[in-house]
Amino acid sequence: LKHQSVALIIGVTGIVGNSLAEILPLSDTPGGPWKVYGVARRPRPAWNEDHPINYISCDVSDPDDVKAKLSTLTDVTHLFYVTWANRSTEAENCEVNGKMLKNVLDVVIPNSPGLKHISLQTGRKHYIGPFELIGKIESHDPPYSEDLPRLNCVNFYYTLEDILFAEVEKKEDLTWSVHRPGNIFGFSPFSMMNLVGTLCAYAAICKHEGAVLRFPGSKAAWDGYSDCSDADLIAEHHIWAAVDPYAKNEVFNVSNGDVFKWKHFWKVLAEQFGVEYGEFEEGQQVTLQELMKDKGAVWDDIVRENGLTPTRLEDVGNWWFADFIFGYPCPLDTMNKSKEHGFLGFRNSKNSFMSWIDKVKAYKIVP
Ligand code: NDP
Repeated sequence: LKHQSVALIIGVTGIVGNSLAEILPLSDTPGGPWKVYGVARRPRPAWNEDHPINYISCDVSDPDDVKAKLSTLTDVTHLFYVTWANRSTEAENCEVNGKMLKNVLDVVIPNSPGLKHISLQTGRKHYIGPFELIGKIESHDPPYSEDLPRLNCVNFYYTLEDILFAEVEKKEDLTWSVHRPGNIFGFSPFSMMNLVGTLCAYAAICKHEGAVLRFPGSKAAWDGYSDCSDADLIAEHHIWAAVDPYAKNEVFNVSNGDVFKWKHFWKVLAEQFGVEYGEFEEGQQVTLQELMKDKGAVWDDIVRENGLTPTRLEDVGNWWFADFIFGYPCPLDTMNKSKEHGFLGFRNSKNSFMSWIDKVKAYKIVP
């Protein structure tokens, strides 16, 4: 079988990386048939093993490891960059994340002469500002469109874009795309920011303890409009940009295309786990970091009693991230530019929410 395209996914066990690893090898995926390499640091987890890809354990923050593991790949045509590192300040995020991307490009571009396209994932914080400045700086007025100017602050997404733009300049016919999702609904127990998985772990603990499923967040998040970005839709968006000439050398938002309210989805979550639904309570704001601290042993009991896939609560429950999302109103983006360039994909967010909950259960991460 002669492959038409060869993908290298950096971050293949992440929330979007795992979707790319599932979708790229399918026989009807645009641009295919695809041969796929996928990179992450940890050994390959069982839930990633169904995907027919070549798994490479490599730490892209280490230039020697990148040289050793990735310089032998000479047939890569498309690079999908879906990883990141989280440090305590944005200045450090710029430094570390910039080096990771540069390490990969420094090795892949010279060793794979057939490289045609680089697809970089950043996110909506491009318009809002980095975690440390949210609420402290003036951000753009939503809905966000791709042509808004950068904010006047450091942001590792800007660093990544600048490195990408400088590197593609050096090679003729090498194209790029940047993808900016909002909060992602997907599947990955190895993700640093997995909202659905985190809510499933929280609901499973409430069920186990007979507790009410309290809403940890603000009124604005409870009954304001929110949106999300389905991980499979993001993967389709990456693949579209990789193969469609109208999408080349452009930046695109990527979100489901509808809105929802958490107070409605909270009912869905409660029903899926058979727990008592808690309403938002004025003046009673709680955080998951507070509610879930010291639940590690409870989690271990849940895993053992139900014969689940072994996980650590600190990996599957990204409490800080859920607290962050529920702490603020959700600023929306617009998908007009993607549609105008020919990407008409969308998801029904309620179906998306339920199908990812089903997947967390199917892979025995929660009971
Ligand atoms: P995840 O945290 O879900 O996954 C990261 C992946 O990269 C994992 O496979 C991880 O596996 C791997 N990885 C991490 N560090 C390294 C390293 N040094 N070397 C090799 N592999 C590594 O990533 P996301 O998809 O969430 O993040 C991609 C981009 O999307 C980021 O810029 C993020 O800010 C953005 N984004 C994410 C959102 C979300 O809801 N998750 C929302 C909007 C934007 P391992 O740890 O085993 O190495």
